[in-house]
Amino acid sequence: MNPQEKILALWDVDQALHRLTGLINDLKLEEERIKARIQSEDQAWQRRRESHRKLRQTATAKAREVDETDDRIRAYQKRLDQDIIPYKEMEYLREQVGLLRKRLEKLEQEALELLEETDVDAERLSQDEKEYKARRARLEGELHGLKERREGLERERERLLERRQEALKELPGHLREHYERLHEAVSDPVAVVKDGACSGCQLRLSEILLERVREGREVVICENCSRFLFLCWR
Ligand SMILES: [Zn+2]
Repeated sequence: MNPQEKILALWDVDQALHRLTGLINDLKLEEERIKARIQSEDQAWQRRRESHRKLRQTATAKAREVDETDDRIRAYQKRLDQDIIPYKEMEYLREQVGLLRKRLEKLEQEALELLEETDVDAERLSQDEKEYKARRARLEGELHGLKERREGLERERERLLERRQEALKELPGHLREHYERLHEAVSDPVAVVKDGACSGCQLRLSEILLERVREGREVVICENCSRFLFLCWR
């Protein structure tokens, strides 16, 4: 290989590396997107469980209220039945028992409804859990597939980086340095002649330079942007 061919060989490796890096970054973004979806699935499931827990709590509190009201009625009734108490207090207790019984009826109805609602919601919750777990497993599977693909590409990139080192070593020192400087400054250190202009900087090239490129006997660099110039892409 002459130096021109060696430059093109290096540029081939760099282009492949560039494409590969782009693919790897796309996969990383996709992985992040799926991780975010898993997280939002988890959060939604937490909220769902919490709403069921609160419903059950409300039902339990209502049942407790029923028991407490019942206890109070019994206590009042016991006092009415057993104790000798002043008439005024007896009147008051009777009135309270009446009120509490009405209240108890309403509370029992509410407690029953809440209990039924909780039972229905518990069934729905277990269905929701199945669906949540299935969605999560699917996302985990997708994530795993993406990770494997990305790791494969990363190994490929390692191999390409080694090939790049070899291609660089092939170049004479001054060309290697020039290529590396250019490569750091611009994404494309190699350009072709297009309608008498450099495809890198778009500026017109002198006739002398064009002639040297056409002859193809030596490495030519653009007089404006310093890119390596070739007559056409291979
Ligand atoms: Zn140029």
